[in-house]
Amino acid sequence: AGPTAPAKIRKLDENVVNKIAAGEVIQRPASALKEMLENSLDAGSTQISISVKEGGNKLLQITDNGSGIRKQDLAILCHRHTTSKLASFEDLETLSTLGFRGEALCSISFVSHMTVTTMARGATYGYRVTYKDSEVEAPGPKPVAAVPGTTITVEDLFYNVPTRRKALRSASEEYGLILDVVGRYAVYSAGVAFAVRRHGDARADIVTAAGGSRLDAVRAVYGADVARELLPLRLEAGGGTGADVPVDGPMGLRVEGLISGANYTSGKKAVLVLFINGRCVECAPLRRTLEGLYGTLLPKASKPWLFLDVRMPPRQVEVNMHPTKREVGFMHQTEVIEAIRAAVESQLLASNESRTFATAT
Ligand code: ADP
Ligand code: MG
Repeated sequence: AGPTAPAKIRKLDENVVNKIAAGEVIQRPASALKEMLENSLDAGSTQISISVKEGGNKLLQITDNGSGIRKQDLAILCHRHTTSKLASFEDLETLSTLGFRGEALCSISFVSHMTVTTMARGATYGYRVTYKDSEVEAPGPKPVAAVPGTTITVEDLFYNVPTRRKALRSASEEYGLILDVVGRYAVYSAGVAFAVRRHGDARADIVTAAGGSRLDAVRAVYGADVARELLPLRLEAGGGTGADVPVDGPMGLRVEGLISGANYTSGKKAVLVLFINGRCVECAPLRRTLEGLYGTLLPKASKPWLFLDVRMPPRQVEVNMHPTKREVGFMHQTEVIEAIRAAVESQLLASNESRTFATAT
């Protein structure tokens, strides 16, 4: 081999660029579903039902009772970087929505057959539109009788990306990943009624009640065995409020959670349902720390179940700036993890003491 003459540089074909970009945002049915679920929540939905065929490879359908989409927006709905959520770069600091990049629907439309049926709140009827490669397909939006809200149907995901299709797991594994995503959001967004079922099944695999508590949602999704053994967790640290943890910066940390206690011994693996500033994320170091804590403190209950709703000033979190990024980064990581560890530890110790006390008297 050895050095060769330089190859000619040329611009990639638009269609190739779009397919590559789509593959970055949407890797599998569960990632498509997560994007659509976040859109439904952003639209203020209180009911979200999901129907899945063949693990989502054949069909993913999500119906919500949110704001709906205005007719005049349907033409650009699936264009890249069209969004109703972000207007300026500064908005990122105060963003309260899950979406903002305007890439999800665009990406999905490049790798599936997509149909949107929507009726905007206040409108008298709805519209049905099909999209292909980010554009409305002829003959365009068709008026239909509908109820306020949106149904998005995604069929034959990756029909035109055979390598991606081959990389998918079995239908039941892909379905499991979908249930995992929905389960996490159902606990976080307790009170929103979620239902997930295999297409055509009468029985749903996840059902949560409208207006239910967080504990109700845990019971519905993860089972009564988990819900029964949960202790509340509350923490405020730094930022001038009850700085019981030494920090060298204003962490402005607030955590609310539910954590399994000493009696929860049936866990097969540790489950950490983690939301930071409203986003479902992973944080490997936090997970390791908490697993380590349970392992040391409660060897018999060493596979805990934990839900943590963590809030910190938005500028301290670098989360989901890229849609594929589930692993979160944030400032003061060591201190934040230590503060959460200490709070969990003291709650576990306190509840153990009161247990011993209760049985001793
Ligand atoms: P983003 O969420 O980043 O804005 P998306 O591609 O996910 O980008 O969605 C584009 C736009 O489509 C959203 O900004 C929103 O206005 C609209 N939209 C998508 N799904 C829904 C829905 N279920 N209900 C209402 N509007 C929706
Ligand atoms: Mg979105």
